[in-house]
Amino acid sequence: MQAKDLVQLAEQFGSPLYVYDAAKIQSQYKRLTSAFSKVEKLRINYAMKALSNIAILQLLRECGSCLDAVSIQEVQLGLHAGYSPDQIFFTPNGVSLEEIEEVSSMGVQINIDNLSILEQFGTKHPSVPVCIRINPHVMAGGNANISVGHIDSKFGISVHQLPHLVRIVENTKMNIVGIHMHTGSDILDIEVFLYAAEILFDAARNFKNLEFLDFGSGFKVPYKKDDIETDIEELGRKLSKRFNAFCKEYGKDLTLIFEPGKFLVSEAGYFLAKVNVVKQTTSTVFAGIDSGFNHLIRPMFYGSQHHIENISHPKAKERFYSVVGYICETDTFANNRKIAEINEGDLLSFRNAGAYCFSMASNYNSRYKPAEVLWLNGEGHLIRSHETFEDLLRNQIPLPIVAAV
Ligand SMILES: *Cc1c(COP(=O)(O)O)cnc(C)c1O
Repeated sequence: MQAKDLVQLAEQFGSPLYVYDAAKIQSQYKRLTSAFSKVEKLRINYAMKALSNIAILQLLRECGSCLDAVSIQEVQLGLHAGYSPDQIFFTPNGVSLEEIEEVSSMGVQINIDNLSILEQFGTKHPSVPVCIRINPHVMAGGNANISVGHIDSKFGISVHQLPHLVRIVENTKMNIVGIHMHTGSDILDIEVFLYAAEILFDAARNFKNLEFLDFGSGFKVPYKKDDIETDIEELGRKLSKRFNAFCKEYGKDLTLIFEPGKFLVSEAGYFLAKVNVVKQTTSTVFAGIDSGFNHLIRPMFYGSQHHIENISHPKAKERFYSVVGYICETDTFANNRKIAEINEGDLLSFRNAGAYCFSMASNYNSRYKPAEVLWLNGEGHLIRSHETFEDLLRNQIPLPIVAAV
């Protein structure tokens, strides 16, 4: 996608706007599956919480992807987008037994991440195939908010509790078909990931009826030129070899599963916003845009650094800006950021806006959520209209007596 395409889409569909490049999603999918082409049975479960627009789900389904859902509503969206129940995995954290039972009854593979629910579910439904989420206590790196495998993490069943886990499985005679780990975002050190994989293999040796091993995700994507990223090809070479050797030892071709979110959609996304005001203060120049953390919360929530370009005047001389939103609270997208000189009315493009951007948007300040457009074969397709006043009122119930007050 080029800057001029983005400008044209903002003119056509208005701003702020989310744009997703279909070709990038497709090429990332291909890159991942190619890296693991030596594995007999490979399955990709797209972690749909990253970006759950049904058009994106359809696109990935055409690529051959399956889904990873973390709520019953995500499961329902996946079914609505055309996935069959056996193409969906349910990997929630801390949800009720009732929700797990309901999803399981739909024919979706469930993944249980604590011993309490495991024991209750196994006692009631011993014949239902279950996957268990292990916490290998490996710090995969990155940001404390998104590292989920370490010792104090709430996710998964600690590997140190394996004896207890095995006892529950033996007592209930439940059917464990898969083992899962998800060590969190930002795998930078492949050796650390392989070390976590060994812990998963060790856990797997305790179960005789396995069908798959799920290595989760956490692939780091680049945010700017020359940024560090997970070397997928190297991971593919090393893990495939180790995985195939384990299958031989286990005596069965297990399915290798990944559940990437960011890797598939992050770089495909662009968030476009217009500059309402350029404000010079004693310390900086603010560029205030027609958006805020209601539309893109990641910079404020966990400090993610989205690259920002002035796509209206990409060639102008660069200056330093603080890019801020219109929310009545501090909402800074970037501090002291070098951007081509900004005039009021210019369009800014935020990169890496595919994952955890629209899906975390809210109506704070009673603003509408933006529209979403899919750029496919050189054309923009509207895949979500922006909201209207009716959307803000939906489900609100006015007091009947208000008029009399
Ligand atoms: C969020 C999540 C993912 C996706 O993580 P990314 O860093 O976006 O690839 C995968 N698996 C589980 C269980 C998750 O909760």
